[in-house]
Amino acid sequence: MKLDLTRPIFDAHNAVAAENRGLLDKAGVFALNLMSSPGAGKTCLILATVDRLPPSISSGVIEGDPAARIDADIIAARGIPVTQINTGGGCHLHAPMIRAALDHLPLTDIDLLFVENVGNLICTANFVLGTHKQIVLASVPEGHDKPYKYPGMFAAADAVVLAKADVLRSFDFDLAYFRHGLDIVNPNIPLFAVSSRTGEGLDTWMAWLLQHILKPHLVLAAT
Ligand code: MG
Ligand code: ZN
Repeated sequence: MKLDLTRPIFDAHNAVAAENRGLLDKAGVFALNLMSSPGAGKTCLILATVDRLPPSISSGVIEGDPAARIDADIIAARGIPVTQINTGGGCHLHAPMIRAALDHLPLTDIDLLFVENVGNLICTANFVLGTHKQIVLASVPEGHDKPYKYPGMFAAADAVVLAKADVLRSFDFDLAYFRHGLDIVNPNIPLFAVSSRTGEGLDTWMAWLLQHILKPHLVLAAT
């Protein structure tokens, strides 16, 4: 039998992820882990989503980046509580980083927390953070072959957002081929083709999201 030296590290992380989930649930926060390659449009999706939330649902953001706080500043400028995690070149977020970041957010005032992971389609999905749903973004300019080339990411997702859908035709993006690739690794996973720029497709994404937010009374108030 092959000895897996990474196992003890994952076990320790999983324990902290469970602690994170406990803190989130206690405060009534529903958390999303947003994963994609760099530049797919995670920050734009966060802003477009926040713009469409009913006023009864307030949001917060944890920003993960190797360096800088460019996205965090954009989020903060909108008046959204945000905490930046700089991984110092590290290629993913892990549960202890989230645990530390949670201390810097007004959790009791937040209903929906976005965790914007480091841009990376390889390893981010291997690290459980304690978030309720794992969302993988692919964007049209990256090409329709991503589920075939990065199956682990798409297998770990609860939903897939295909961003920049307004340029599908310009990139000869084959949506059926992309969907088929998803079905191989994660049959029937929800797929939302959206454009944060034009707003197309965001209604169905919002409907799915609101359905999953833990506070049913808030969702009812929104309809
Ligand atoms: Mg970003
Ligand atoms: Zn990594």
